[in-house]
Amino acid sequence: MRSCSRCSLPVDSSTPLKNTHPKDPMTRIALPNKGRLQDDVKTLLDDAGLPIRGKSERSLTASLGADFEAIFVRAQDIPEFVADGAADLGITGSDLVEESGRVLTELLNLEFGRCRLVVAAKDDGGLTSIAQLTGKPRVATCFPRLTRAYFESKGQPVEVVPVSGAAEIAPHLGIADIVVDLTSTGSTLKVNGLRELATVLDSSACLICRDEVAQRPEVQEFTIALSSVLRARTQRYLMANVPKDRLDEVREKLPGLNGPTLSEVLGGSRFVAMHAVVPAASIYKTVAALKGLGCEGILVTRIERLMP
Ligand code: AMP
Repeated sequence: MRSCSRCSLPVDSSTPLKNTHPKDPMTRIALPNKGRLQDDVKTLLDDAGLPIRGKSERSLTASLGADFEAIFVRAQDIPEFVADGAADLGITGSDLVEESGRVLTELLNLEFGRCRLVVAAKDDGGLTSIAQLTGKPRVATCFPRLTRAYFESKGQPVEVVPVSGAAEIAPHLGIADIVVDLTSTGSTLKVNGLRELATVLDSSACLICRDEVAQRPEVQEFTIALSSVLRARTQRYLMANVPKDRLDEVREKLPGLNGPTLSEVLGGSRFVAMHAVVPAASIYKTVAALKGLGCEGILVTRIERLMP
């Protein structure tokens, strides 16, 4: 019996690699084995009730709940694994999905891992925009496909110098004139004496699959589990006792999705109890406004999951 080339577990050699992993029919999801996205992926899965179980330091697979199996591979290989059928789902950066050029369905934008793919040049070189480029500059990048497409769309001829990491050093070593590289805060570019000239692409982590598996019930369940957690992160559950004669003003102050729900406070109180789901980003303003309207017993809690 031969081994699975992806995870080295034994597979039935009478069938092609596509979905021949020994633990089928579990739905398999490819996750980053290291790097920037790893911690956020783990937190999201924990919050969604799908904690990674049975993974030791070096293991390449683990279970996620009862129905899913995780395989751990390099973030840049995940689009290929999913497109080729070695995994059903994958979580990786949308920059890497775009660079792969594979046809994949993005089920969810996961909101973390935000960064931009940018064109940058040496700070002391005098360039401030790509319109000032002349001739055929050499561009060092880990994203040759996106880089070629970008400069082609701008009508600027370039010579792409593919590198597998640390592109930012290339202009200082004289092996490239400019770089196309990822940045989030811009501090690494600055530290390396580079200045941003243009944005090629905005990126964040995403959940991907092949189009043909998108409608499978377990894929939809997985997507709903993650999206309900992501939605809940942006909202808060608010409770307060509201003076009955200020209800209309309170309602105006609540930018929330739902409600508010009102219930009587027993004993002929001048208050009603109000519950509402409100945006987390403006909760501090909402609480201050409610207080100003005479509300009492204001209580704000996090929400674990939220489905509209
Ligand atoms: P890495 O951890 O270097 O393997 O990068 C994996 C992915 O993390 C990248 O492809 C991006 O999608 C994402 N990422 C988020 N922020 C950054 C950043 N500042 N630099 C590089 N990658 C980033």
